[in-house]
Amino acid sequence: MTNKFMYFIANWKMFGDLKSLNSLTKVINFSKKQKKKRFKLIYCPPFTLLNLFFNRLKKTNIDLGAQNCHHDFNGTAHTGFVNSKMLKNIGAKYVILGHSENRVAGDTDLTINMKIKSSIKNKLKIIFCIGETNFQKKKKLTHKTISKQIRKGLKGVKNLNNILFAYEPVWAIGTGAVPVNKELKKNINYIKGVLRKNFNLKTPKVLYGGSVNPVNVKNLKEINIIDGFLVGGASQNPNKFIDIVKKTFN
Ligand code: PEP
Repeated sequence: MTNKFMYFIANWKMFGDLKSLNSLTKVINFSKKQKKKRFKLIYCPPFTLLNLFFNRLKKTNIDLGAQNCHHDFNGTAHTGFVNSKMLKNIGAKYVILGHSENRVAGDTDLTINMKIKSSIKNKLKIIFCIGETNFQKKKKLTHKTISKQIRKGLKGVKNLNNILFAYEPVWAIGTGAVPVNKELKKNINYIKGVLRKNFNLKTPKVLYGGSVNPVNVKNLKEINIIDGFLVGGASQNPNKFIDIVKKTFN
């Protein structure tokens, strides 16, 4: 049982069509019923559904986020991309940056840094993903990797107050594997330490992401320094997503 305020982020990745809008009703009704403000739900659908989600969520207490953006918002042409200004304009409040699937697709620490800066300029809140690969874990490079991603991603960023951090070990995303609590606690502590010491962030918010489901969340919530969960696969099923929230508090 936790008494903390928790964030639950639904990352729908490259899934979802017009029909999937219907699945929001259950989650909206569930969220409406919360008496105390114990949590914040944030939906991050693919670009194609952002506007429809905005219309469905605008009178609710659920926030909208995008899954990535281009850093350039000064009117240069980039076929196939969307920037932070455009996201803000259609009602997104958040943007996920640095997700490992986008790092694999070409995002670097430098482009992520530029995206963070452009998103802050356009008044978006950021969900900044960091995490080590299996290879890096095996080579005992987890802390070195995470610290580099944080330092380079935040270089020159002055205001960190609107950034949520998501620790997502790459080997845990979509695999069913989850770090053991001792390791997870150590890594989250490490991240919070880097943010406090090197970035003067007094109360860093660090979420965990990687194969979270209604079963393993009962164990994960025991780590009382976690500030929430970034949920991929399980968030596409409203019952599972609601269950994850419920089980975090029960
Ligand atoms: C993710 O998309 O960031 C994620 C954590 O996915 P999954 O929950 O499916 O592992």
